[in-house]
Amino acid sequence: MQKLQNYINGELVAPASGNYIDNYHPATGKVYSLIPDSDAKDVELATDAAKKAFPEWSKKSIQERSAILLKLVDLIERDMDKLAEAESKDNGKPIWLAKAVDIPRAAANFRFYATGILHEHTEAHSMGEEAINYTLREPIGVAGCISPWNLPLYLFSWKVAPALASGNCVVAKPSEITPMSAYLLSELCIEAGIPAGVFNIVHGLGPKVGSAITEHPDIPMISFTGGTQTGATIARTAAPMFKKLSLELGGKNPNIIFADCDFDEMLKVTLRSSFANQGQICLCGSRIFVERPIYEKFKTAFVERVSQMKVGDPSDDKSKLGAVVSKPHMEKVLSYVELAKEEGGTVLTGGHRVEMEGELKDGYYLAPTVIEGLNYNCRTNQEEIFGPVVTIMPFDTEEEVLMYANSTKYGLASTIWTSNLKRAHRVAAKLHTGIVWINCWLLRDLRTPFGGVKQSGVGREGGFEALQFFTEPKNVCIKL
Ligand code: NAD
Repeated sequence: MQKLQNYINGELVAPASGNYIDNYHPATGKVYSLIPDSDAKDVELATDAAKKAFPEWSKKSIQERSAILLKLVDLIERDMDKLAEAESKDNGKPIWLAKAVDIPRAAANFRFYATGILHEHTEAHSMGEEAINYTLREPIGVAGCISPWNLPLYLFSWKVAPALASGNCVVAKPSEITPMSAYLLSELCIEAGIPAGVFNIVHGLGPKVGSAITEHPDIPMISFTGGTQTGATIARTAAPMFKKLSLELGGKNPNIIFADCDFDEMLKVTLRSSFANQGQICLCGSRIFVERPIYEKFKTAFVERVSQMKVGDPSDDKSKLGAVVSKPHMEKVLSYVELAKEEGGTVLTGGHRVEMEGELKDGYYLAPTVIEGLNYNCRTNQEEIFGPVVTIMPFDTEEEVLMYANSTKYGLASTIWTSNLKRAHRVAAKLHTGIVWINCWLLRDLRTPFGGVKQSGVGREGGFEALQFFTEPKNVCIKL
C-alpha cells in the first residue's frame, strides 16, 4: 500500500514517529493509502528548515521567485489529469469536476500570485515640503498554512501561493482526510526546483500537526481554512502569541430568489449552488428563500430536477454527484436530515444514502436532498450541514427575507436572483456576508477580496489582500 511522505527541507521523508494513518477511498469505503501520522517533532524539523531557507528566499528578486513558481504551474498543468484523478479518488468528487475546477484553479492560484508580485507597488505619503513617507512591505518569516478537505489542492494552493510569492517560507498542513494532491504537489515542487526548506508539507491530524504549527513560536502568521470551531481553537492559541491570523470558516449561505428573476437561468445555477461537490463547498447556498408568487413553480421544477441528478461513480462523466468525503461526514449529514424531520420539515426528495453495487457498495453516497416546512430559526436552518442538503422556504417581503438571510451566526456568501437592478443593489448592501453574487454563483475573479463576516471568518484572502496578509508594512518617514 502506498505510503505518503512529508516534504521537509526539500526531501520526501517518513514521519519521525514512523506511524501512519489510514487514508480512505470514499467511492468504495476502502483504505487505499497511508498518511504520515506526524507530530510536533516533524513540525519542528519543517520550521527549522523554513527558518534557514528564509533569508535567501526573501532576498531573491521578485522575477526569480516568480519564475520558480511559474515552473510549478507548468508542472501542475502537465499533470492535470493525474492530479484530477488523484483528487477525485481521495475526496469522492467526480473526476470531471476535479478536472474542470479543482486542478485548473490550483494552477491559476500559483500563476496569479507568481505574476501578481510583478505588479505590486507600495504607497508614498507626501507631507509637502516638510517630509515624505514611503511604505515598505516585507515578508515576515515562516507562514503556517492549514487547509480543509473539500477543495483540497484548490484551497491549499490559495494560501501557499501568496505566502511563497511574497517571500515567506511555509510550513503547511493539508487535511488528513484528503492528503494526496498535496503529496503529489510536493513531488512537483522538487521537480520545479523550489529551494530546500522554502516550502514544507507536514501531513497528519489537526490536533497534533495543526496545533503544533499554531503553537510554534517561530511561526508568526497562520492562514487557516476550515470549520468555525477549529478556527476558534486556533485563535485561542494564536491571540496571546500575537500571531497574524487569517481565518476562512464555515457558512450557511442564503440564496434569495425574487419572482422577477430569469427563472431558467436561476434554476440551472441553483442546482449547482446547492449540490456542486456534493454540497461540500463553503459557498454553497443551503437556505433557499423564494418569493411567494413563484414558490410553487420553483418547488415543482427544482424537486423534479434534483430527483433526476445522477449520484454515482466519480469516474463516470454522467455522475453529477460522487461520494461525500468520509463515513463520519456522511453520518453527520444524515443526522441533520433526521433533525430536520424532528423539527417539522418534509423531505421532498432525497434524504437517504444511495446504495451502490459491486466495488462501490460501501462508498459514501448521498441522494441530493430538498427539505421544506422549516422555520428560519430552527437548527437545520442555522447550523452548517456541509452536504447535499438544502431547505426551501417562501417569503413575502424584502424586509422579511433579509431578516431570514441575516439570522445565522455565519456571514460568508449570499446569492440574489432578480432582474430589478435597484433591488439587487439595495438587498446586496443589507446582506451581512463577505461575498454577494447577483444572478450568478461562484463566479470568481481572483483579484477580489474573499472571506466572511461574523463567525465565517477574520480577514480576507484573494488579490493583494493575501499579499498584504503575508507581509508587514513599514512606514519610513524622511524629513526633507
Ligand atoms: P476542520 O476545521 O475540521 O479542519 C480543517 C483543517 O484544520 C484540517 O487540516 C485539520 O486537520 C486542521 N485542524 C483540525 N483541528 C485542528 C487544531 N486543533 N489545530 C490546528 N488545525 C486543526 O474543517 P474541515 O472539516 O476539514 O472542513 C470543512 C469546514 O471548512 C466547513 O466548515 C467549511 O465551511 C469550511 N470551509 C471554509 C472555506 C472558506 O473559504 N471560508 C472554504 C472551505 C471550507
